[in-house]
Amino acid sequence: ALLMLLSQSTASNDAAAKLEGSDKAYDAQAISAAIQSGAIVNYYQPKVRVDTGKIAGVETLVRWQHPVDGLVYPDQFIGLVEKCGMINELTSKVLEQACIQAKTWQQAGHELKVAVNVSMDNLASLDFQDVVVALAAKAGIAPNKIVLEITESQLMGDMRVSLEILARLRLKRFHLSIDDFGTGHSSLSQLRDIPFDELKIDQGFVHRAWENETLRAIYDTSLALAKQLNMEAVAEGVQDRQDWDLLRRTGCNLAQGNFIARAMPADAFEAWLVDWQKRLVTEGLLSVQLEN
Ligand code: C2E
Ligand code: MG
Ligand code: MG
Ligand code: MG
Repeated sequence: ALLMLLSQSTASNDAAAKLEGSDKAYDAQAISAAIQSGAIVNYYQPKVRVDTGKIAGVETLVRWQHPVDGLVYPDQFIGLVEKCGMINELTSKVLEQACIQAKTWQQAGHELKVAVNVSMDNLASLDFQDVVVALAAKAGIAPNKIVLEITESQLMGDMRVSLEILARLRLKRFHLSIDDFGTGHSSLSQLRDIPFDELKIDQGFVHRAWENETLRAIYDTSLALAKQLNMEAVAEGVQDRQDWDLLRRTGCNLAQGNFIARAMPADAFEAWLVDWQKRLVTEGLLSVQLEN
């Protein structure tokens, strides 16, 4: 409740930022066709370890390659996909591709986890766990290399089935991540009831937390909570050197954000990794030490 109160002002800024982009309305038929035809593709954003700079994993973020509008971002169509009852189909495709891609990277010598965003609607029926298990097995990816991200704000309401599915997936060793932490409303009881592996501090509490006392308090509290509960803390929305240095000083486990890399197509990954390894040295990104 404290986090919620503290987060209200920042959360509304977030909402305003989202409205900035083009707000075109897409219809169900167009989206359905896009899912079928493979026009909705996986991009990947790296998650790196803050202590070593090593790649730890990637998060899958979908983009719609629209013939007229160009690259359309998920905020413009995921809501409609959910409303039209097509989210199971989309998530299956996204997860299937992500598993195949993870296998390709593993075979190229990159030990990384692949994260996929899961909608609450995916957790409405018990079938979902079978789909996840089957897709991972088919691609030859171990469950503990797959992270399922669920946004905190969706973890509300009557969700006995959802909790059951999450618990079962966790028992099968899939990793669970709570996304956009600090922007939801019932997080603490969820953390009590489900053994999440990872806590992603929302970008609204990361960027500029080094200079803003309120953000810093929320960031510190979220980080401490993650540590106490033995979860890996991920800072989202790391946008500049000052943000990165704060994570170094405070001992955050993982970092994700435009400072490190924007989401990219799979075939851009190798070149990014080479560049990132250079930056670690040339920019001295590992120079700032842990506080105390
Ligand atoms: P998310 O899972 O919290 O993903 C993080 C979002 O922040 C992504 O936006 C990412 O591109 C953006 N981001 C990362 N670093 C930075 C940064 O440094 N600065 C700023 N300003 N933004 C940054 P994106 O790709 O537009 O995705 C938005 C949301 O759409 C995601 O939020 C996720 O909730 C949802 N989403 C994406 N792909 C899927 C999917 O396959 N299925 C479902 N159900 N939802 C998805
Ligand atoms: Mg996510
Ligand atoms: Mg997030
Ligand atoms: Mg989000």
